[in-house]
Amino acid sequence: MNENPFAPLPATAPVPTDPRAVFRDGPHVCTPVTATWPARCVRCNTGVSAADRRLDLTWTPRWVYLLLLLGVLFAVIAQVFARRKVNLHVGFCAACARRRRRLLGAWSATLGLALVGLCSGAAGSSAVMAGSVILALVALGGLVLCHPLVTVDRVYGERAWVRAGAAFVASLPAGRAPPAAIDPLSLAGSRPRLDD
Ligand SMILES: [Zn+2]
Repeated sequence: MNENPFAPLPATAPVPTDPRAVFRDGPHVCTPVTATWPARCVRCNTGVSAADRRLDLTWTPRWVYLLLLLGVLFAVIAQVFARRKVNLHVGFCAACARRRRRLLGAWSATLGLALVGLCSGAAGSSAVMAGSVILALVALGGLVLCHPLVTVDRVYGERAWVRAGAAFVASLPAGRAPPAAIDPLSLAGSRPRLDD
């Protein structure tokens, strides 16, 4: 593993974003919506040779969920127009990538088993049915564990506020988004803390 974050990127690697454009804002990484993050693991902050993992994330404003009160169709249509895409190139060290693959594999296997059990249990056996429901709950718990490490909390203008591994976030220089980037319409809960 290459520990030198300043090592030259391979020819195929994405062009790195100006390091000053990606900074820590409270518990978030404040980043341009399209960016290549520093070449460090987003989970444990180990140096990696390049931030070469592409993450295509989306963010939906919270007001869209309020439209669910009017009807699912309203919310779905609004979601299509209001959602924002965030495309990031991030680094994952080999150990963290392996751990994530294993968690996802275990989760898919548990969910698959639960689904098979539910289908066959529906044919009559209440014991199989109960077992399958328990398995399904375990799979749900696994989903929480496998919850994507990098999640978008908010997008405003051309900037996104993103959650990532604590060690990675802490390693970034602290910065402040310009006041113009504070969305007056954002609901209190979705507004990032700027006072770190
Ligand atoms: Zn790592």
